[in-house]
Amino acid sequence: MIDRRIELLEDEGVVFECNVDVGRQLRLKDLWRRHDALVVAIGSRVPRQIEVPGAGLAGVHPAMDYLYGRNRWVARQEGRPARDTGAEISAAGKRVVVVGGGDTGMDCVSNAIREGAADVLLLDVYPELPASGRDANTPWPLPPKRTPSTYALEEGGHREWAAQVTEIIGRDGRVAGVHGRRVEGTSSRDLRAVPGSEFDHEADLVLVAIGFNHPEHEGLIEALALDLDGRGNVKAPVYATRTEAIFACGDARIGQSLVVTAIAEGRRCARVVDRFLGGTGVARPVSAEAMFAFEDGDPHSLRHQAETAGTVTVGDAFWSGPRDAETER
Ligand SMILES: Cc1cc2nc3c(=O)[nH]c(=O)nc-3n(C[C@H](O)[C@H](O)[C@H](O)COP(=O)(O)OP(=O)(O)OC[C@H]3O[C@@H](n4cnc5c(N)ncnc54)[C@H](O)[C@@H]3O)c2cc1C
Repeated sequence: MIDRRIELLEDEGVVFECNVDVGRQLRLKDLWRRHDALVVAIGSRVPRQIEVPGAGLAGVHPAMDYLYGRNRWVARQEGRPARDTGAEISAAGKRVVVVGGGDTGMDCVSNAIREGAADVLLLDVYPELPASGRDANTPWPLPPKRTPSTYALEEGGHREWAAQVTEIIGRDGRVAGVHGRRVEGTSSRDLRAVPGSEFDHEADLVLVAIGFNHPEHEGLIEALALDLDGRGNVKAPVYATRTEAIFACGDARIGQSLVVTAIAEGRRCARVVDRFLGGTGVARPVSAEAMFAFEDGDPHSLRHQAETAGTVTVGDAFWSGPRDAETER
């Protein structure tokens, strides 16, 4: 499916150049020589760190360090090119604890199971979702931030809800287990420890999947001297940054999100870039209201449904999620 989609895009004139780190390997002045506009869509890859004693022990890794290695292993098995990342993290035969119950945590669970982990426990700090699948922070029509079911746990492993890791226990410099407690509450700001609920769990490998902070600032963003918003994302309220001809969209603009959101971001950004290229040559500011005006009247549009429901005020905050939304992914 992906190959087919790439072919379609190539037929439309899109040129893909792989293995190029823009801002580090490819100099910006070389880009500008060939192009009139630049869209920064580099995702949100800086992982949130777990700030508990023992976080620096051997055997404790950010989830993506593990998942990048697994993806490359799969690529090699299928005869596709894959970068050599040196010593890859393996879960085979190990007792694995995954901290964080978002999609990234789930991918860790399934990969560890497929590798033949001895035991996989996923600890989710949030309570089990109600039958509706929504918690109080995301009333309809806001997209739910969490899902009650997952493909990963169907393959094996076990999830515990409302479980917060407070320490990673070590032996001779290596991880030996996690220490935690039960908590109540639905957001990181209102979590309360349940007295007398502390627990220990043995582990040889701890994978930390508690979300992402923002895009990498070193490299491209610094080279372009782009403004950042309060969360460290590229500041581009209506896709255009303050720098002429430079735009941003996707997770780099709104923080770690969903594939569907990133696709919608890309489409809206493309319209803005298109106007820029076909207009006076100067990026003109477009208000959020004007951006979504094309959806007015369409009874199937998210905007229309949201306004009909009367539960949210449509604006930038609506499209990027509530300001205080948890971004565990
Ligand atoms: C482990 C994991 C699991 C997920 N699971 C789900 C899921 O099940 N469902 C869902 O809807 N969403 C999921 N998401 C979220 C989803 O993948 C993202 O929201 C979405 O991919 C964001 O799209 P994007 O185009 O903005 O950024 P990305 O998809 O992150 O793409 C950014 C691209 O830019 C490249 N790049 C970065 N810097 C540079 C540079 N300097 N030069 C050149 N290239 C660069 C990166 O290599 C990457 O290919 C998951 C995310 C993760 C990390």
